Amino acid sequence: MSDSTDLAGSHALVTGAGSGIGAAIARRLAAAGARVTLAGRREAPLRGVAAELPEGSAMVVAEFDVTSPEAIDRGLAVAHAAFGPVSILVNNAGAAETAPFAKMTLEQWQRVIAVDLTSVFLVTQAVLADVRAAPAGRIINIASTAGLKGYRYVSAYSAAKHGVIGLTRSLALELAKTGVTVNAVCPGYTDTPLVAEAVAAIIAKTGRSEAEVIAELTAGNPQGRLIRPDEVADTVLWLASPAARSITGQAIAIAGGEVMTG
Ligand code: NAD
Repeated sequence: MSDSTDLAGSHALVTGAGSGIGAAIARRLAAAGARVTLAGRREAPLRGVAAELPEGSAMVVAEFDVTSPEAIDRGLAVAHAAFGPVSILVNNAGAAETAPFAKMTLEQWQRVIAVDLTSVFLVTQAVLADVRAAPAGRIINIASTAGLKGYRYVSAYSAAKHGVIGLTRSLALELAKTGVTVNAVCPGYTDTPLVAEAVAAIIAKTGRSEAEVIAELTAGNPQGRLIRPDEVADTVLWLASPAARSITGQAIAIAGGEVMTG
């Protein structure tokens, strides 16, 4: 491994680390030498990921509901006690709910905004003093191509992810002189449990085959395939590394050319 991705001495907090993209990010950061706090709500999957990581490099905080300020504070205290202040925050936890806009209830709207947008505000504020005090603090938000463009039937999710990108850009400016970088990563449809659940729901509703549904989901990606969680994790690793010290306030699409930013 080159020095440019050596994260020895850093402490990364990854939310929603028990599955999909979060688990892939935790593996990459731990392989680069970081100590990683795997934060989430489901103990068994979090422990499963921790067991794969190098001895002593990971700890699990299993009652870390990113919508609860109290749970975040409690979880952070446990993480501090084990690995010290956090230097790399990866806001990855999230959930997608679909509904035609006309049928969306206020409860659905508020649930999605809470888990996909307010969560980023809450966890980032809780960790901010740590990250600012670090020699090269990093805040990396897992947004989505739905933060850069619209998709049908996910208006709340898309609004939340656009919000994450706005928060990223503003905070990047507020922290620019501190050495902390703040960036968003925007995957297109990625091969994770979140998409598997969406595919299963569409199959149940429409009776279409799995291949047909996946072909439909990937039709918007010029490369015509699902993104792999490892590909997202590679970009996060780069953003976390010293090599990316001048990259801040960006929303980087990992989507085979589906959206073009710049
Ligand atoms: P996933 O369902 O495997 O991961 C989401 C994780 O967040 C899960 O571990 C879940 O338990 C956790 N989580 C949900 N609500 C939480 C809460 N209140 N508190 C703590 N943890 C909570 O799906 P994924 O695809 O790996 O999603 C990870 C991130 O990537 C999400 O923010 C998602 O919006 C984003 N994303 C996913 C895709 C995709 O196509 N899979 C595309 C773009 C963006």
